[in-house]
Amino acid sequence: MNFNKAEFVLSAVDPAGFLRDGLPQIAFAGRSNVGKSSVINRILGRKNFAHVGATPGKTSQVNYFKIDGRAYLVDLPGYGYAKVSKAERDRWGRLMENYFAAGLISLGVQIVDARHKPTADDLTMIRWFYDTGCPVLIVANKLDKLKKSEIEPNLERIRQTLCPGGEAEVVPFSAETGVGKDALIQKIGGILHL
Ligand code: GDP
Repeated sequence: MNFNKAEFVLSAVDPAGFLRDGLPQIAFAGRSNVGKSSVINRILGRKNFAHVGATPGKTSQVNYFKIDGRAYLVDLPGYGYAKVSKAERDRWGRLMENYFAAGLISLGVQIVDARHKPTADDLTMIRWFYDTGCPVLIVANKLDKLKKSEIEPNLERIRQTLCPGGEAEVVPFSAETGVGKDALIQKIGGILHL
């Protein structure tokens, strides 16, 4: 699957907009500012495809990119931004509940910050993926911000918190430097047999 052959398809703001054409859907989740847009741009080989630095919490929408005509990369709205109104948080919750309940996810990609212990929200989110029964990859982003000696202990802390029973695999990544890009693309293709 050639990730450089990607096109933006549409943004869904409610379940009526969800794509249901049978192509595999690779759903990307992460808290606001974790670098989800940057990770997506990095693996698609684009600078500004997904909107880096988008006003957090202002855009509860599900964005679809078609990859090589063979799968969708689904950019789920970020979570965990403190300054979001209750109304907007509720809207986010309904949209996510509906998307996860629709049975459309072939692979979950949970993005976390390699520097920090995953948050309670990260754990809640990854459990939503686990509950669907889909395979899950964890991208530990911002690896470039770690000292070499910090890398393995931090990755282990992420494993212990999010996948203590080996439920998912952690992929070290830096959207800034491109570290982990090839590994992530390879693992996605391997899991989906594409
Ligand atoms: P999103 O809200 O999760 O989509 O996050 P963005 O992609 O908008 O990134 C948030 C901020 O983190 C931006 O200033 C990015 O330049 C920065 N960022 C994203 N990924 C990395 C990374 O791997 N390393 C570093 N150093 N900064 C990153």
